[in-house]
Amino acid sequence: MKKAIIIGAGIAGIALSIRLKRKGYDVEVFESNSFPGGKLSSFNLGPYRFDAGPSLLTMPHFIDELFSLFNEDPKSYFSYKKKDISCKYFWEDGTKLTAYSEKEKFANEVEKKLGVKSKKLLKYLKKAEKKYDLTKTIFLEKSLNKLSTFLTMDTLKSILSLHLFQIGKPLNDVNEEELGEPHLVQLFNRFATYNGSSPYKTPGMMTLIQHLEQEYGTFVARNGMVDIANSLFKLAKKKGVTFNFNNNVTKIILSNNKAVGVEINKKKYYSDIVISNMDVVPTYNKLLNGQPSPKKILNQERSSSAIIFYWGVKKEFKNLDLHNILFSDNYKEEFDSIFEKKEIHNDPTIYINITSKEISGDAPLNCENWFVMINAPNNSGQDWEYITNELRKNVINKINRVLKTDIKQYIEKEKIYTPINLENNTQSYLGSLYGSSSNNKMSAFLRHPNFSNDILNLYFCGGSVHPGGGIPLCLLSAKIVSNLIK
Ligand SMILES: Cc1cc2nc3c(=O)[nH]c(=O)nc-3n(C[C@H](O)[C@H](O)[C@H](O)COP(=O)(O)OP(=O)(O)OC[C@H]3O[C@@H](n4cnc5c(N)ncnc54)[C@H](O)[C@@H]3O)c2cc1C
Repeated sequence: MKKAIIIGAGIAGIALSIRLKRKGYDVEVFESNSFPGGKLSSFNLGPYRFDAGPSLLTMPHFIDELFSLFNEDPKSYFSYKKKDISCKYFWEDGTKLTAYSEKEKFANEVEKKLGVKSKKLLKYLKKAEKKYDLTKTIFLEKSLNKLSTFLTMDTLKSILSLHLFQIGKPLNDVNEEELGEPHLVQLFNRFATYNGSSPYKTPGMMTLIQHLEQEYGTFVARNGMVDIANSLFKLAKKKGVTFNFNNNVTKIILSNNKAVGVEINKKKYYSDIVISNMDVVPTYNKLLNGQPSPKKILNQERSSSAIIFYWGVKKEFKNLDLHNILFSDNYKEEFDSIFEKKEIHNDPTIYINITSKEISGDAPLNCENWFVMINAPNNSGQDWEYITNELRKNVINKINRVLKTDIKQYIEKEKIYTPINLENNTQSYLGSLYGSSSNNKMSAFLRHPNFSNDILNLYFCGGSVHPGGGIPLCLLSAKIVSNLIK
């Protein structure tokens, strides 16, 4: 039986372990943490439970697919339900908007609250759908670095429709031209942050991101986001994958330009193939030290990071839902601060995720578990303690202004997470959330491929390589790698 070693039990590493097991490989995973899931983890603060990282569940069919590979019923492992409301939006000028999953209902709400004809929005959404349909097989489901990807009818169709992609203009310009109304432009600009980019830089092509949310919907994991990792881990173990926790891989062993295993504390483990689910930059810098590296790709700008305040709040806020956004009054300056000045703007956009709205056990009665996230620059040695203290004051003031409350008196538990914590806990380069950013219009082609061009039998999966960050794309990276391995 051929043997595969996977470095890291992030969501892509676990998904790939399942796929390779299905292919008949003996699979061994080495993980430096004491638990599976990487960025997908959870913790408790007294009676409050929190998901530490991802909060938005989209495209859960990619998760189900992994259970189906073994003819297992996905629902008996991982249970979720669709949300009617995808997000509640709030602005400083008092404007409020509920984004409904159902397209027509959302368009009617936009017409009623923002005065934009529903026909205009539906036309914009249709265009985004077209972009997604034309690109998904090339950009998301296959390796961009294999000639065969480009020799298909799908590719030909896409090339003939290149004008539809709006690659030459930033997302903000496309949204201003096609939607016009400032609140609506800001709302649709926000989708650039789904891969840690700026709407003033990322190409107009990215309108396709919101299509995924609008078309496929948003979901709630009944046992929290961490259950994605836990349930897939359970399946992998049941099918015979071996997991070794507290094992930090220090080297990929090479022989005649082939990956033949890994080294941990001078102990060697051999295999036929090696896959790194570790961030691709430290994979080269630490595990392949001394080998030639694809410098242009590794030097691509990294995505944004985040500061998160986890608050146990002893009050219920009836006007909030699972996902809530309190927008900055100056979005352009906020993104300039993050990507140019490497700072956090003093009027930041605030995302509040409250899982206790859906999972009653996540907070005591009449209380809520607030996950308050602010987009931040990645780590370039800033004084995070000072930044976090200033930010906390600004965040509390803004929440008080917009939600007409006095939040400080209700915070009874608190934990704070900075880009440094993210970097230390998951070895993500500079603490970025999604690998490299998509601020460059060629970014899709500048992500590291899912295999090595120089070293045989070495592959890569996860958010820092093709097709990109976020749970659905990480799961697709595992699928692409599995398809590349004969
Ligand atoms: C705060 C936050 C919010 C997010 N929000 C969302 C969201 O709402 N929706 C969404 O879809 N995505 C979201 N994301 C992104 C998503 O979490 C990631 O894209 C995804 O989880 C990355 O998975 P991965 O497979 O790349 O591995 P990672 O989660 O990066 O895990 C890599 C694993 O490899 C291990 N490792 C690293 N180096 C070594 C080594 N040398 N030896 C052994 N093990 C090693 C690490 O310990 C870690 O467990 C968010 C991320 C963060 C941090």
